[in-house]
Amino acid sequence: MALTVLKNANVLDLDLGELVPARTVIVENGTIREVGDGAGSPSSDSQVLDLRGRTLLPGLIDAHVHVTAFTADFGTLARSSPAYVTAQSARILNRMLLRGFTTVRDVGGADFGLSKAVEEGLFPGPRLLFGGKALSQTGGHGDLRGPGHEAYDAAYTQPGLGVICDGVPEVRKAARAEIRRGANHIKIMGGGGAASPTDRLDSDQFSEEEIKAVVEEAEMANLYTVVHAYSGRTIERAARLGVRSIEHGNYLDEETAKLLKQRGCFLVPTLITYQMSSRHGAKLGMAAESVAKINALISSGIKAVEIAKRHGIPMAYGTDLVGAELHEAQLDEFVLRSEVLSPLELLRSATTVAAELVRLDGRIGRVAAGYCADLIVVEGNPLHDIRVMTRPEQNLRLVMKAGQIVKNDLG
Ligand code: ZN
Ligand code: ZN
Repeated sequence: MALTVLKNANVLDLDLGELVPARTVIVENGTIREVGDGAGSPSSDSQVLDLRGRTLLPGLIDAHVHVTAFTADFGTLARSSPAYVTAQSARILNRMLLRGFTTVRDVGGADFGLSKAVEEGLFPGPRLLFGGKALSQTGGHGDLRGPGHEAYDAAYTQPGLGVICDGVPEVRKAARAEIRRGANHIKIMGGGGAASPTDRLDSDQFSEEEIKAVVEEAEMANLYTVVHAYSGRTIERAARLGVRSIEHGNYLDEETAKLLKQRGCFLVPTLITYQMSSRHGAKLGMAAESVAKINALISSGIKAVEIAKRHGIPMAYGTDLVGAELHEAQLDEFVLRSEVLSPLELLRSATTVAAELVRLDGRIGRVAAGYCADLIVVEGNPLHDIRVMTRPEQNLRLVMKAGQIVKNDLG
């Protein structure tokens, strides 16, 4: 088997928090075989890439995406042809990969078919971890009906992001159905949201019995539960009832932060989606009520990041962008969080911390022997300036996913 050798690499060691210069990385069968000084380098049939001192780091992980959300208008999305949505998703996934994301976790919308299509190489994209449809109560964040609209299309093939279920038997059945379809995690809508027409940001959703039932089903299958949560109360009950991954978390308070730390929860802030939706939402078909709800979330988000940092809560990178155009800002979450986090903390959020969250720790998120060869090369030192990461056209020189080169601009 031919090897790929990346020589003269400044390898970002996320544990040491520094660049290790003049490394040679040997890739074999999609896996990093060795990271060393290059002595005794391999045979002549290997492909050699000279990085000339550029920075080599693990492929990025985005832990909160919706790859099927080609439009910010979820009503339109749900009524679209699944074939059309798949074609849009293929383009969204390809662009994510070309921004340096080699793994993404979809938390509403993507299914086993899309993940399989990427796995089989039918189109290029990051490794796609999915939870199927997000579980929502009637009138919850996954219920897209307006107040005067009764009919609900429960067909699983309609490409909406959520599924409505009420009461313990129904939520159990919905969770079991997603587990049957191969879900990597189970997502629940634990409180109000911006994109849903009839709920309030500060309302809790699902009873404690319902949440407990979903958590139990997920844990029985050795999976974990992910919750959409804004208010302190919503976050508190989810964490207390065993949910592991708290999404958004904008109104996190000091007391709840202590609970998250104690329960080993992860927080996945998604600041960029509020900024982009506020700027472009109306133009892209988002309802006026949704844009108004979003404006209320902008200032609270960064405060939550600051509180979480102080309490030592692991934070993973997440973006939550919807609408094909808005996905372009996927790397700008780094910039927004940099107001309170260091470049090293930011880089860990998108590598080692996110890998731990998605339970692929030891497989992805580091440049080390035995890890999957998900690698990217950037011009410049992101430990000095995180903006190195946010201009892929200029700075991103190589993207390799599982040993396959998908972009090579080393020159
Ligand atoms: Zn959400
Ligand atoms: Zn989301």
